[in-house]
Amino acid sequence: MRISTIASGSSGNCIYVGTDNTHLLVDTGVSKKRTEEGLFKNDIDMKDINGILITHEHIDHINGLGVISRKYNIPIYCTPKTKDAILSTKKLGEIDKDLFNNIYPDDEFAIGDIDICAFDISHDAAWPVGYRLTSDNKSVAVATDMGKFDDYIISHLKNLDGIVVEANHDVRMVLAGIYPYYLKQRILGDDGHLSNENSGKLINEILHDNIKHIILAHLSKENNYEELAFQTVKSEIELSDNKYKADDFNILVAKRDIASEIYYI
Ligand SMILES: [Zn+2]
Ligand SMILES: [Zn+2]
Repeated sequence: MRISTIASGSSGNCIYVGTDNTHLLVDTGVSKKRTEEGLFKNDIDMKDINGILITHEHIDHINGLGVISRKYNIPIYCTPKTKDAILSTKKLGEIDKDLFNNIYPDDEFAIGDIDICAFDISHDAAWPVGYRLTSDNKSVAVATDMGKFDDYIISHLKNLDGIVVEANHDVRMVLAGIYPYYLKQRILGDDGHLSNENSGKLINEILHDNIKHIILAHLSKENNYEELAFQTVKSEIELSDNKYKADDFNILVAKRDIASEIYYI
């Protein structure tokens, strides 16, 4: 399997996951042009995308969906409530209803040679999910936009070969920052976003000898920066009582506006 982050953060999220034969996007939160360019950088043509998996309807995850679906007619997969929320998002323009396929958490389905299992996440959207994608005994997951994690989420993230996981904010930066009180409460709440510390704690729960890539994602522009997310997650791993050291793993930080290379899983 292979994975690349095309864009990540509150200004837009889009992740490519594929195999030799199947090519998928998780979210289309940036423009058609930026998505095309991000794929092209890794020699993938948007025409070859077989499906778009949507995590939830917040605009940073669907901003490009209207234009992309009108140009390319790619099947869209999301929960029924997410579909309704997308269709009522005026900003996207008309989207062909026939492109939508309902998916349900814990109900596996396949696109080409990739098996997909969505799982519920805790976030202030209609029916948000994360995704675990498996092909040829290799698995990757996309787990962002979640205020907290629990045993249910951990169970869906066991034995992964790669993960894109949220490290959204530094709690002290949020508290000291300029955001109004209600917004601080939203970010820090159970339906908000995962802090750097909690991201490290979640990673500690799912570490195993063969996890190859850990990609920290959805960093807040105002309340985080790459080095801080990276060092905080690393120190959570160092401080934990598991047998691992942070340097045992390839920990990366997804760039906000620059498509990554392809990481092979
Ligand atoms: Zn969101
Ligand atoms: Zn988001």
